[in-house]
Amino acid sequence: MDRYKKQRKKMVDSQVRSRGITDKRVLEAMEKIPRHLFVDEGLLNQAYDDNPLPIGERQTISQPYIVALMTETLQLTGKEKVLEIGTGSGYQAALLAELADRVLSIERIASLASKARNILESLNYFNVLVCVGDGTYGWKDESPFDAIIVTAGAPAIPDILKDQLAVGGRLIIPVGDRYTQTMMKLTRLSDNPDDIKIEDLGGCRFVNLVGQHGWKG
Ligand code: SAM
Repeated sequence: MDRYKKQRKKMVDSQVRSRGITDKRVLEAMEKIPRHLFVDEGLLNQAYDDNPLPIGERQTISQPYIVALMTETLQLTGKEKVLEIGTGSGYQAALLAELADRVLSIERIASLASKARNILESLNYFNVLVCVGDGTYGWKDESPFDAIIVTAGAPAIPDILKDQLAVGGRLIIPVGDRYTQTMMKLTRLSDNPDDIKIEDLGGCRFVNLVGQHGWKG
């Protein structure tokens, strides 16, 4: 076993499985994806630590457990079309690419999108499309989505994203103030976009979702 493979196994056992994540596909994919390739060289020895890490531009790659929790909550089986808002390093997109059919990911900072695109391509994740823009609008032309994951903290749930969920589709989004949020899961129950079940998954802390339907600056 190479050094990083050992670290990945330890990360999954001690940070993810031990905290109650049971979806076998999520656990296996996290054991497989080389998370250290998504962080800066200077942080290589911290890539599998139990915390978020800086990725430049004052943004972060999320804590492994939070990535696992959000992903498990989306209940992916391999057939889904998924929208991610906040590509960041591209690590979450790689995990989604392992677990769903197609992934569209939007990042507002062009330099991060370009870096993420390069690493995803080098790892042969050809079912992910990364684009630069304000993800708070969603991606109407590509909707409906079976799952939408927002990886930055929003002041409120943007209605426009609910409208882009397929019936039965799941949206996971941290909602709160600029410093602390609650992880919310929404499930669209019928053709009526307001017919939504909302679940509270607990407290979390994300960088801000900045855009038209997020924080203004
Ligand atoms: N999913 C990422 C990963 O695996 O590394 C972590 C994302 S980081 C916590 C949040 C990201 O959301 C940042 O890269 C930030 O630039 C981006 N972001 C914030 N507001 C956005 C918006 N309106 N549209 C797209 N991306 C946005």
